[in-house]
Amino acid sequence: MICSRQPTVCLVAALLLGLPAICPRPLLAAPSSSAHLSAEAATHSMARKVRQTRKKPVRPAPPPTVVKDLRVMAYPDHTRLVLVLQRDVTFTQSRQKNPDRLIIELQNSLLGQAARAVLSDKEFPGEITIAQLHPRSVTVSLNMKTISDYKLLPLTRPSRLVVDVYPHMDIGAVRSSAGASPPPVVSIPHPRSAKRPARPEIKTIVVDPGHGGKDPGAIGRTGIAEKDIVLKIGLKLRELITKHLGNQVLMTRHQDMFVELEDRAKFANATEADLFISIHVNSHPQRSTKGLEVYHFGEASDQRALEVAARENGTPIKDTGIGWQYLVADLLTTKKVQESLELAWTTKQAMVAHLDSHYDVVDHGVKTAPFYVLRNTVMPSILAEIAFISNPTEERLMQGDAFLTRMAEAIFEGVKAFVQPLQTASR
Ligand SMILES: [Zn+2]
Repeated sequence: MICSRQPTVCLVAALLLGLPAICPRPLLAAPSSSAHLSAEAATHSMARKVRQTRKKPVRPAPPPTVVKDLRVMAYPDHTRLVLVLQRDVTFTQSRQKNPDRLIIELQNSLLGQAARAVLSDKEFPGEITIAQLHPRSVTVSLNMKTISDYKLLPLTRPSRLVVDVYPHMDIGAVRSSAGASPPPVVSIPHPRSAKRPARPEIKTIVVDPGHGGKDPGAIGRTGIAEKDIVLKIGLKLRELITKHLGNQVLMTRHQDMFVELEDRAKFANATEADLFISIHVNSHPQRSTKGLEVYHFGEASDQRALEVAARENGTPIKDTGIGWQYLVADLLTTKKVQESLELAWTTKQAMVAHLDSHYDVVDHGVKTAPFYVLRNTVMPSILAEIAFISNPTEERLMQGDAFLTRMAEAIFEGVKAFVQPLQTASR
């Protein structure tokens, strides 16, 4: 529960080497800094010191690190605070009783103007206090009475300190997440949660049929390829949305061509799309595995979600889940996370409801996984794995047009359920 990460000292050490005489103030302590120096630099440094004097060298203190900005993001189950730093900083943690507080002290640091402005905002979460209690140290204090857990994540390039705070869950507000129930709702005890911004009217929807061209995606035993199946569904979905909802639909590809994952997200961002829907076909070593699942971006919810993301990303599994937090630390907005989750649930529910009367649908639910294609989009984004090409029954179904049409209709029903109440409300 308590993060036991040791203070980061690399940059302090680097500054010591790089900026030898800026400030005459002696450094208080950086005991493990030598471990982080390059061997060569450390050797030279030591040799020089030995030649110069036998006395303990007086080392200059680095200039204070400015906390340039503070960002707060409310996620469904936690609040994320990002301290944007001028450079990496050494920090310590301690627990205080009466009141029960966790104190994170950023050594040799100053609160910048922008950060001070954020703190004076009345929407700043009440369970976190940030103050310049000493001339050269910024203190982040977490009220442990109101939170159940926290995580600290120091990031470099650019330097940031991420503090995730998990509030005590309001049990009454948590609904079951099992089976076909709606997504769990968790209350976050600060004003931001009550003041969720209204969703803007959805105008443009990007439909992203996975793979294409030289990348066939998953291939069935009969030789059918994922890239062809998802393109057919994508084109049908475009037609349904255009015809019945009137939204502009843009395709990341409308024919059998290769498009980089990164370019798909860039395209959606550049066209200022309001929703991003990626369509894929699943595969599993066990041929009996069948059904559908809808993903949104996040840490892999389970091992198989990680495997799916690795396959779709085209990366080894060992590289797929690692560092996802680094990628999203302050990239994802609260709005995108919440709305992607909602879009995923709405779509999944509608898909199951629509297909259930025709087929024996296995509902694998809504999951999260670090899909590259969902990583950089700024709008609510989901990835639907519509069926398993490795399952003989579903492979056979995907060879026929009726199933593909129904699948397009099923996704359309989900999009409609997400989009229409908003359009009605905004009129
Ligand atoms: Zn795929």
